Amino acid sequence: MIRQYELVNLLKSYSKNIDEDALNRAYVYAMKMHGSQIRASGDPYFSHPLEVAAILTEMKLDEASIITALLHDTVEDTDATLDDIGRLFGEEIKKLVDGVTKLNRIELQNKQNKQAENFRKLILAISEDIRVLLVKLADRLHNMRTLHHINKPEKQRRIAMETLEIYVPLAERIGVSKFKEELEDLSFKFLNMEARESIKKRLEFLRNEGEKVVASIIDELARQMKSAKIKAEITGREKTPYSIWKKMQRKNVSFEQLSDIMAFRIIVDDISTCYHVLGIIHGLYPTVPGRFKDYISIPKPNGYRSLHTTVIGPDNHRIEVQIRTQEMHEEAELGVAAHWAYKQETNAKGGKQYRWLRELMDIMEQASHPEEFLQHTKLELFQEQVYCFTPAGDLIELPKGATTVDFAYAVHSKIGDTCVGAKVNGRIVPLNTKLKNGDQVEIRTSKKQTPSPNWERFVVTGKAHSRIRRFIRQQQQEQYASLGKAMLQKICKQEDVSFNEKKFTPILKQFKTQDIDKLYIGLGSGHINAREVFKAAFPDKAAENAKNIRELKEQDFQKTKDENISNKKGKKGKKVPMPIKGLIPGMALHYARCCHPLPGDKIVGIVTTGKGVTIHTIDCESLESFADTPERWIDVAWDSGQDTPETHIGRLDITLANEPGSLGTLSTVIGSKDGNITNLKIINRQIDFWDILVDVYVRDSKHLDEIIKTLRATPEITAVRRTKGR
Ligand code: MN
Repeated sequence: MIRQYELVNLLKSYSKNIDEDALNRAYVYAMKMHGSQIRASGDPYFSHPLEVAAILTEMKLDEASIITALLHDTVEDTDATLDDIGRLFGEEIKKLVDGVTKLNRIELQNKQNKQAENFRKLILAISEDIRVLLVKLADRLHNMRTLHHINKPEKQRRIAMETLEIYVPLAERIGVSKFKEELEDLSFKFLNMEARESIKKRLEFLRNEGEKVVASIIDELARQMKSAKIKAEITGREKTPYSIWKKMQRKNVSFEQLSDIMAFRIIVDDISTCYHVLGIIHGLYPTVPGRFKDYISIPKPNGYRSLHTTVIGPDNHRIEVQIRTQEMHEEAELGVAAHWAYKQETNAKGGKQYRWLRELMDIMEQASHPEEFLQHTKLELFQEQVYCFTPAGDLIELPKGATTVDFAYAVHSKIGDTCVGAKVNGRIVPLNTKLKNGDQVEIRTSKKQTPSPNWERFVVTGKAHSRIRRFIRQQQQEQYASLGKAMLQKICKQEDVSFNEKKFTPILKQFKTQDIDKLYIGLGSGHINAREVFKAAFPDKAAENAKNIRELKEQDFQKTKDENISNKKGKKGKKVPMPIKGLIPGMALHYARCCHPLPGDKIVGIVTTGKGVTIHTIDCESLESFADTPERWIDVAWDSGQDTPETHIGRLDITLANEPGSLGTLSTVIGSKDGNITNLKIINRQIDFWDILVDVYVRDSKHLDEIIKTLRATPEITAVRRTKGR
């Protein structure tokens, strides 16, 4: 185990101005908090955060990263809280520890290893600060190094698989091949011990046999460099067992056929020398076609730069040669972390810092806000998405701002269509709740539920939008059709003609409709005039009809209203009121804002072009403007037998004594009668009295009347009346 002063010295060796005290306090704090906890290896638990910190010093990470490494398991595994960390070590450390803790929790949620790609994105999105990810990778590396202590082969395999699918690509993505190769090799060990062993044995054999070969190739290359007066450092190294195995799998060749298991590296001073060396190598030895890669001109997506070529080298050995500068070499080993080290050294000189920031941004495919990167190296690559879990542990990718309904539709269209409620992280939330990264979402469905027009206001995904819209359109069409049919039936009855669909078939073309349903839809939506359709179908009735209209116009307004009130006893039983049944508000039916009709009120429907039917109370003043167009009036009645009673807005005009607590009394009284205040507006404020408008959700007019009665019995309330309009 590393000692306290050793860790401080390690950090001092590459970083100036460190806060030795903070580092010591973190060391002592973590040791104290983990106390007597023991690892599977039998070591004290504290050895783990300490090793993680040591791994990060090898990468020359900054003090905050090292302190975070020491503290990374305290919040999750000990009594320490995030606030304790903030109080003792400051905001920066608190944020970093919080990030690592979140990653640990997410890791526990992801039961399966499927959807590794989404999971990697989730980790990047949650990390926010690149240091969080580096601490997490070092944590995983140490856990992999000690995985053999866990005596459950199944668990070993699962963790190794997870490492290979999730952490290895992450390490590669941010260019830390140092982490990548070791994590890969350790995973390989637990996933395919036999393959790894046989490759290692073979490598050993070749190594013994070819020891001289490697040395002679290095000598030969060195001589060539010297004669060209190039200062170069040449190393030869074996490829890793895993990369050899992958190549064998990919190319479907046996180990014997794999000739270039040796790679030689030539490290030189600058980029132009790299190309110079390449020219020399290609001039000396025959090249293997298709193997030359210029990653200096076009770096790999993770920022990796080098020249790669394969040649038939000295003594006809096929060898791969990598040519790079010292800086490229460090970047290849440490990736983003190398940039971090550069940043520390050159903080004063802004130029270089900016260059690495630019590169990092390219790595992260993120092109905006370079300024932000100067302060926090944020991983904003996947900040435009949120990743949420299903109860089964599946990850669902959604755009930022997505709600539980979007989630439901993303899981399955049917689940979206029938969702009635949602739980996020075990708590019941409204359907319009916006989701956050890592949320676990459970959708409750009901076969009776259908998409609601209200959902359209908050969903953000195209899938949810289009499904809801399609459903509404379909419902609208159906409702318009039944409405239109009822309108024609009504006219026929009024005109003493027996209704028969066939009578209307010959006139379909005249109204530019293909079939009778389209005609009904046109009528119901108000695009086609019902009287005109009737006139066209029964021309002989036309004259009489015209007379009727004239008469109607001459009749006083009251009469028109009387004609259309369903609740009044109709003459000769001609009245056929349409129940507002299955007419979903917001689709083919709207309640007028001018009079707020409530179930129980006498009502009338007015066909409004393109909107379907608007329901008014029969005493609504705005009905006067429809006096000239009786054909637009339709007879409607409340459907009493509805199984799911809707709530409606009733509006009250209230005069209230201006004294302390009177407003509270008002809301208490309304609440006690099961009314829910949805809006409140002060109209007039006098010394003694206030006039206010209160909108209350009620079931029907009877419900509202009860509320009014109770309010009238309340001393603080001077006057109450149901009002319309304003
Ligand atoms: Mn840990």
